[in-house]
Amino acid sequence: MNSPQCDPSLKTPAGNIPGNASSAGAELRATNPSEMKTGTVFDIREFTVHDGPGLRTTVFLKGCPLRCAWCHNPEGQKTYPEILHSASGDRVAGRVWTAENLAQRLNRQADIFRSSGGGVSFSGGEPLMQADFLLDVIAPLDLVHVLIETSGYAPAHVFEKVAARCQLVYFDLKVMNPERHRHFTGVDNGPILRNLEILGSLDTPFVVRVPLVPGVTDTEENLRAIAGFLRGKRGLVRVDLLSYNRAAGGKYKACGMEFKPDWDESQPCRADTLIFKDAGIHAKAL
Ligand code: SF4
Repeated sequence: MNSPQCDPSLKTPAGNIPGNASSAGAELRATNPSEMKTGTVFDIREFTVHDGPGLRTTVFLKGCPLRCAWCHNPEGQKTYPEILHSASGDRVAGRVWTAENLAQRLNRQADIFRSSGGGVSFSGGEPLMQADFLLDVIAPLDLVHVLIETSGYAPAHVFEKVAARCQLVYFDLKVMNPERHRHFTGVDNGPILRNLEILGSLDTPFVVRVPLVPGVTDTEENLRAIAGFLRGKRGLVRVDLLSYNRAAGGKYKACGMEFKPDWDESQPCRADTLIFKDAGIHAKAL
Protein backbone atom coordinates (compact mmCIF):
# COMPACT_ATOMS: atom_id res chain seq x y z
CA MET A 1 0.00 0.00 0.00
CA ASN A 2 2.64 2.47 1.00
CA SER A 3 6.36 2.22 1.19
CA PRO A 4 9.04 3.87 3.27
CA GLN A 5 10.15 5.64 0.08
CA CYS A 6 6.68 7.18 -0.26
CA ASP A 7 6.60 8.17 3.38
CA PRO A 8 9.80 10.04 4.20
CA SER A 9 8.47 10.94 7.62
CA LEU A 10 8.20 7.33 8.75
CA LYS A 11 10.48 6.52 11.62
CA THR A 12 12.75 3.55 11.14
CA PRO A 13 13.03 0.82 13.75
CA ALA A 14 16.78 1.32 13.91
CA GLY A 15 16.20 4.95 14.75
CA ASN A 16 14.13 6.58 17.38
CA ILE A 17 11.42 4.15 18.40
CA PRO A 18 9.40 5.75 21.15
CA GLY A 19 8.89 3.25 23.90
CA ASN A 20 9.42 0.17 21.75
CA ALA A 21 12.51 -1.98 21.95
CA SER A 22 14.53 0.87 23.36
CA SER A 23 13.69 2.84 26.49
CA ALA A 24 10.13 2.08 27.56
CA GLY A 25 10.42 -1.35 25.95
CA ALA A 26 13.26 -2.21 28.30
CA GLU A 27 11.17 -1.00 31.19
CA LEU A 28 8.27 -3.20 30.15
CA ARG A 29 10.55 -6.15 29.47
CA ALA A 30 11.28 -6.16 33.19
CA THR A 31 7.69 -7.31 33.77
CA ASN A 32 7.48 -10.70 35.39
CA PRO A 33 6.42 -13.12 32.60
CA SER A 34 3.89 -14.69 34.96
CA GLU A 35 2.11 -11.30 35.00
CA MET A 36 1.86 -11.19 31.21
CA LYS A 37 -1.58 -10.32 29.94
CA THR A 38 -3.68 -12.51 27.72
CA GLY A 39 -5.63 -11.28 24.73
CA THR A 40 -8.04 -12.61 22.14
CA VAL A 41 -6.94 -12.67 18.50
CA PHE A 42 -9.22 -13.70 15.65
CA ASP A 43 -6.70 -13.87 12.84
CA ILE A 44 -2.99 -13.59 12.12
CA ARG A 45 -2.04 -12.99 8.50
CA GLU A 46 1.58 -13.26 7.43
CA PHE A 47 3.30 -11.56 4.48
CA THR A 48 0.60 -8.94 4.06
CA VAL A 49 1.41 -5.97 1.82
CA HIS A 50 -1.70 -3.80 2.30
CA ASP A 51 -1.48 -3.11 6.02
CA GLY A 52 1.54 -0.82 6.07
CA PRO A 53 5.01 -0.54 4.54
CA GLY A 54 7.02 -3.60 3.48
CA LEU A 55 6.21 -7.21 4.29
CA ARG A 56 4.14 -7.44 7.43
CA THR A 57 2.30 -9.75 9.76
CA THR A 58 -1.11 -8.42 10.69
CA VAL A 59 -2.62 -9.43 14.02
CA PHE A 60 -6.38 -8.97 14.28
CA LEU A 61 -7.48 -8.33 17.86
CA LYS A 62 -11.03 -9.23 18.77
CA GLY A 63 -13.57 -6.76 20.09
CA CYS A 64 -14.76 -3.38 18.87
CA PRO A 65 -16.94 -0.74 20.55
CA LEU A 66 -18.23 0.48 17.17
CA ARG A 67 -20.85 -1.12 14.97
CA CYS A 68 -20.11 0.41 11.58
CA ALA A 69 -22.93 -0.52 9.25
CA TRP A 70 -20.39 -1.36 6.51
CA CYS A 71 -17.92 -3.29 8.73
CA HIS A 72 -16.05 -5.89 6.70
CA ASN A 73 -14.73 -7.70 9.79
CA PRO A 74 -17.95 -8.47 11.71
CA GLU A 75 -16.24 -11.48 13.30
CA GLY A 76 -13.98 -8.95 15.03
CA GLN A 77 -16.74 -7.06 16.80
CA LYS A 78 -17.50 -9.30 19.77
CA THR A 79 -14.83 -9.53 22.43
CA TYR A 80 -15.00 -13.29 22.93
CA PRO A 81 -14.28 -16.31 20.69
CA GLU A 82 -17.29 -17.33 18.60
CA ILE A 83 -18.18 -20.09 16.17
CA LEU A 84 -18.77 -19.00 12.59
CA HIS A 85 -21.10 -21.15 10.53
CA SER A 86 -20.75 -21.41 6.76
CA ALA A 87 -21.39 -23.87 3.93
CA SER A 88 -17.77 -25.01 4.14
CA GLY A 89 -18.13 -25.86 7.83
CA ASP A 90 -17.79 -24.26 11.23
CA ARG A 91 -14.73 -22.46 12.49
CA VAL A 92 -13.82 -20.65 15.65
CA ALA A 93 -12.99 -16.95 15.39
CA GLY A 94 -10.93 -15.99 18.41
CA ARG A 95 -8.06 -17.61 20.22
CA VAL A 96 -6.59 -16.56 23.54
CA TRP A 97 -2.85 -15.81 23.46
CA THR A 98 -0.44 -14.79 26.15
CA ALA A 99 1.44 -11.65 25.22
CA GLU A 100 4.68 -13.54 25.65
CA ASN A 101 3.74 -16.29 23.18
CA LEU A 102 2.45 -13.86 20.59
CA ALA A 103 5.57 -11.68 20.84
CA GLN A 104 7.77 -14.76 20.47
CA ARG A 105 5.90 -15.77 17.32
CA LEU A 106 6.23 -12.28 15.85
CA ASN A 107 9.90 -11.99 16.77
CA ARG A 108 10.66 -15.14 14.76
CA GLN A 109 10.00 -13.06 11.62
CA ALA A 110 11.93 -9.99 12.74
CA ASP A 111 14.71 -10.51 10.14
CA ILE A 112 12.15 -10.63 7.32
CA PHE A 113 10.45 -7.50 8.61
CA ARG A 114 13.69 -5.60 8.84
CA SER A 115 15.00 -6.66 5.42
CA SER A 116 11.74 -5.70 3.68
CA GLY A 117 11.14 -2.47 5.55
CA GLY A 118 8.08 -4.14 7.03
CA GLY A 119 6.89 -5.01 10.51
CA VAL A 120 3.86 -5.91 12.54
CA SER A 121 0.40 -4.34 12.15
CA PHE A 122 -2.23 -4.62 14.85
CA SER A 123 -5.75 -4.38 13.53
CA GLY A 124 -9.16 -5.64 14.54
CA GLY A 125 -11.79 -5.14 15.68
CA GLU A 126 -10.36 -2.27 17.65
CA PRO A 127 -6.88 -3.06 19.03
CA LEU A 128 -7.18 -0.35 21.70
CA MET A 129 -9.87 -2.42 23.41
CA GLN A 130 -7.05 -4.73 24.54
CA ALA A 131 -4.50 -2.00 25.15
CA ASP A 132 -2.73 -3.59 28.12
CA PHE A 133 -2.24 -6.83 26.19
CA LEU A 134 -1.15 -4.90 23.12
CA LEU A 135 1.50 -2.99 25.06
CA ASP A 136 2.79 -6.24 26.54
CA VAL A 137 3.09 -7.72 23.04
CA ILE A 138 4.83 -4.63 21.62
CA ALA A 139 7.38 -4.24 24.43
CA PRO A 140 9.56 -7.29 23.68
CA LEU A 141 9.41 -6.96 19.88
CA ASP A 142 12.97 -6.82 18.69
CA LEU A 143 13.46 -3.57 16.74
CA VAL A 144 10.31 -4.29 14.75
CA HIS A 145 8.31 -1.53 13.05
CA VAL A 146 4.88 -1.45 14.75
CA LEU A 147 1.70 -0.02 13.27
CA ILE A 148 -1.83 0.06 14.67
CA GLU A 149 -4.97 0.40 12.64
CA THR A 150 -7.52 2.07 14.87
CA SER A 151 -10.92 3.70 14.88
CA GLY A 152 -9.49 6.09 17.47
CA TYR A 153 -12.35 5.33 19.84
CA ALA A 154 -10.69 4.89 23.25
CA PRO A 155 -9.97 6.86 26.43
CA ALA A 156 -7.44 9.59 25.68
CA HIS A 157 -4.78 8.26 28.05
CA VAL A 158 -5.03 4.80 26.49
CA PHE A 159 -4.83 6.15 22.97
CA GLU A 160 -1.84 8.35 23.73
CA LYS A 161 0.07 5.59 25.49
CA VAL A 162 -0.32 3.13 22.62
CA ALA A 163 0.16 5.65 19.80
CA ALA A 164 3.41 6.86 21.37
CA ARG A 165 4.78 3.30 21.18
CA CYS A 166 4.05 2.81 17.48
CA GLN A 167 6.09 3.91 14.51
CA LEU A 168 2.97 4.56 12.41
CA VAL A 169 -0.76 4.87 13.10
CA TYR A 170 -3.48 4.14 10.56
CA PHE A 171 -6.40 6.18 11.87
CA ASP A 172 -9.85 5.53 10.41
CA LEU A 173 -12.01 8.61 10.03
CA LYS A 174 -15.51 8.01 8.83
CA VAL A 175 -18.20 10.63 9.32
CA MET A 176 -17.68 14.15 10.68
CA ASN A 177 -21.32 15.00 11.40
CA PRO A 178 -21.92 13.80 15.00
CA GLU A 179 -25.51 12.62 14.46
CA ARG A 180 -24.69 10.78 11.27
CA HIS A 181 -21.62 9.25 12.91
CA ARG A 182 -23.76 7.92 15.73
CA HIS A 183 -26.36 6.65 13.28
CA PHE A 184 -23.87 4.72 11.15
CA THR A 185 -21.39 3.52 13.80
CA GLY A 186 -23.38 3.50 17.05
CA VAL A 187 -20.98 5.82 18.91
CA ASP A 188 -20.21 9.50 19.40
CA ASN A 189 -17.32 10.79 17.28
CA GLY A 190 -16.18 13.25 19.98
CA PRO A 191 -13.57 10.90 21.52
CA ILE A 192 -12.31 10.00 18.05
CA LEU A 193 -11.74 13.61 17.03
CA ARG A 194 -10.16 14.39 20.40
CA ASN A 195 -7.71 11.50 19.95
CA LEU A 196 -6.91 12.67 16.46
CA GLU A 197 -6.00 16.06 17.94
CA ILE A 198 -3.75 14.24 20.42
CA LEU A 199 -2.14 12.28 17.61
CA GLY A 200 -1.38 15.53 15.83
CA SER A 201 0.59 16.64 18.88
CA LEU A 202 2.77 13.49 19.08
CA ASP A 203 5.88 12.57 17.12
CA THR A 204 4.19 9.46 15.69
CA PRO A 205 3.42 9.81 11.97
CA PHE A 206 -0.08 8.83 10.91
CA VAL A 207 -2.18 8.07 7.87
CA VAL A 208 -5.88 8.89 7.95
CA ARG A 209 -8.01 6.32 6.18
CA VAL A 210 -11.51 7.10 4.99
CA PRO A 211 -13.59 4.04 4.06
CA LEU A 212 -15.71 5.26 1.16
CA VAL A 213 -19.38 4.34 1.47
CA PRO A 214 -21.64 5.75 -1.25
CA GLY A 215 -23.78 8.61 0.01
CA VAL A 216 -22.46 8.20 3.58
CA THR A 217 -18.74 8.93 3.89
CA ASP A 218 -18.01 9.96 0.29
CA THR A 219 -20.17 13.10 0.17
CA GLU A 220 -18.45 16.35 -0.74
CA GLU A 221 -19.61 17.82 2.57
CA ASN A 222 -18.05 15.00 4.61
CA LEU A 223 -14.78 14.92 2.66
CA ARG A 224 -14.42 18.71 2.91
CA ALA A 225 -15.08 18.52 6.66
CA ILE A 226 -12.40 15.85 7.03
CA ALA A 227 -9.92 17.87 4.96
CA GLY A 228 -10.66 20.97 7.05
CA PHE A 229 -10.12 19.09 10.30
CA LEU A 230 -6.82 17.62 9.10
CA ARG A 231 -5.39 20.78 7.54
CA GLY A 232 -1.98 21.56 9.04
CA LYS A 233 -1.90 18.54 11.37
CA ARG A 234 1.65 17.68 12.35
CA GLY A 235 2.62 14.11 11.54
CA LEU A 236 -0.06 13.56 8.90
CA VAL A 237 1.61 11.54 6.14
CA ARG A 238 -1.40 11.35 3.81
CA VAL A 239 -5.07 10.47 3.51
CA ASP A 240 -6.09 7.15 1.97
CA LEU A 241 -9.54 7.00 0.40
CA LEU A 242 -10.44 3.32 0.60
CA SER A 243 -12.71 1.92 -2.08
CA TYR A 244 -16.06 0.54 -0.96
CA ASN A 245 -15.89 -3.16 -0.11
CA ARG A 246 -18.90 -4.72 -1.83
CA ALA A 247 -18.03 -8.17 -0.44
CA ALA A 248 -18.38 -7.06 3.19
CA GLY A 249 -21.94 -8.29 3.58
CA GLY A 250 -20.95 -11.87 2.77
CA LYS A 251 -19.52 -12.55 6.24
CA TYR A 252 -22.51 -11.45 8.30
CA LYS A 253 -24.58 -14.61 8.01
CA ALA A 254 -21.68 -16.72 9.30
CA CYS A 255 -21.60 -14.49 12.39
CA GLY A 256 -25.36 -14.78 12.94
CA MET A 257 -25.74 -11.11 11.96
CA GLU A 258 -27.72 -9.29 9.32
CA PHE A 259 -26.14 -6.91 6.81
CA LYS A 260 -28.54 -4.02 6.32
CA PRO A 261 -27.04 -1.23 4.21
CA ASP A 262 -29.32 1.80 4.05
CA TRP A 263 -27.34 3.28 1.17
CA ASP A 264 -27.34 2.41 -2.51
CA GLU A 265 -24.50 -0.08 -2.96
CA SER A 266 -24.73 0.19 -6.74
CA GLN A 267 -23.61 3.83 -6.70
CA PRO A 268 -19.97 4.63 -7.48
CA CYS A 269 -17.99 6.33 -4.72
CA ARG A 270 -16.50 9.80 -4.89
CA ALA A 271 -12.75 9.28 -4.42
CA ASP A 272 -12.07 13.00 -4.62
CA THR A 273 -8.42 13.53 -3.79
CA LEU A 274 -8.58 17.13 -5.07
CA ILE A 275 -10.56 18.17 -1.99
CA PHE A 276 -7.53 17.20 0.08
CA LYS A 277 -5.03 18.68 -2.34
CA ASP A 278 -6.86 22.00 -1.97
CA ALA A 279 -6.19 21.75 1.78
CA GLY A 280 -2.50 21.01 1.21
CA ILE A 281 -2.90 17.30 2.07
CA HIS A 282 -1.51 14.43 0.05
CA ALA A 283 -4.31 11.93 -0.66
CA LYS A 284 -4.49 8.62 -2.48
CA ALA A 285 -7.50 6.73 -3.79
CA LEU A 286 -7.00 3.01 -3.12
S1 SF4 B 1 -14.33 0.23 13.70
FE1 SF4 B 1 -13.67 -1.27 12.17
S2 SF4 B 1 -13.90 -3.27 13.17
FE2 SF4 B 1 -15.08 -1.78 14.37
S3 SF4 B 1 -17.16 -1.94 13.58
FE3 SF4 B 1 -16.13 -0.27 12.48
S4 SF4 B 1 -15.29 -1.21 10.63
FE4 SF4 B 1 -15.81 -2.88 12.07
